[in-house]
Amino acid sequence: MRRNFHRWVAHPTFATNILAKKRRAVDQLSAEVGMPEGHTIHRAAKRHAELLAGVSVHTESPQGRFVEGAAALDGRRLLEVDAHGKHLFYRFEDALVLHVHLGLFGRFAIFTKDAPEPRGALRLRMQGGGATVDLRGPTACELMDDDEEMRLLARLGPDPLRADADPEQAWRRIHQSRRAIGALLMDQSVMAGVGNVYRAEALHVERIHPEREGRSLTKVEFDLLWQTISTMLRDGMRAGRIITVTAEDAGKPRSRLKRGERTYVYKQSACRSCGGQVTAWDMAGRRAWACTSCQD
Ligand SMILES: [Zn+2]
Repeated sequence: MRRNFHRWVAHPTFATNILAKKRRAVDQLSAEVGMPEGHTIHRAAKRHAELLAGVSVHTESPQGRFVEGAAALDGRRLLEVDAHGKHLFYRFEDALVLHVHLGLFGRFAIFTKDAPEPRGALRLRMQGGGATVDLRGPTACELMDDDEEMRLLARLGPDPLRADADPEQAWRRIHQSRRAIGALLMDQSVMAGVGNVYRAEALHVERIHPEREGRSLTKVEFDLLWQTISTMLRDGMRAGRIITVTAEDAGKPRSRLKRGERTYVYKQSACRSCGGQVTAWDMAGRRAWACTSCQD
């Protein structure tokens, strides 16, 4: 049954346990240790919709922590799966919405043939059309009504992966803020979906130091930063992993980049564009990286 396990897993620790024999697949995931960023969530939404949308879904909570919610959804047709930043919304018939946020430890597993017997802390199992989606360890797994969903969405900034994103909304917040741009990018109410890796990489590509105040950015700098973040997230969504280094800078095709070669400054000691020293420090509880010569 394990051979049917796909790489649609948001957390590498889980992958390490399940895919002990598939080291290569694990390697591809391990660049993304930590909270999944928006590209992983959008990719999950797309994949889950491909598998389950349009069919009646059997839902259960083997772990017992989402029994009532699973019972309410059980047997209903899933209409669509939507992502906004790091949040997932599964819309079922009869206006039922399942909200999922993976947080740091949540992860999905997909089985397209026989699913294993449920065991351990399996919060939610969704089955339909021959596919199984398992959810473990999420920060949020709850039913929401329209009002609750609207309130949640109102708290989120624009998501560069969404067609309806309005970058001006993020610009207004950043333009008025004395907070560091590195902290602002990670604030989901300013911009939704950016995590630690893309923060480090996008700021590096735009030569902006993470500690610069938001209000010090020019509109042109912000526009380019938004563009870079959007492109990086889209790339990540397509590839299923984070590669920010261009083939030109790497001197070889991006597909041949090994772990540790895929980022410019994130978890690097020397900058992969200029060779300069990379410094790392704590910023709002997460590690920040910057090149001492490219970024000021
Ligand atoms: Zn550099």
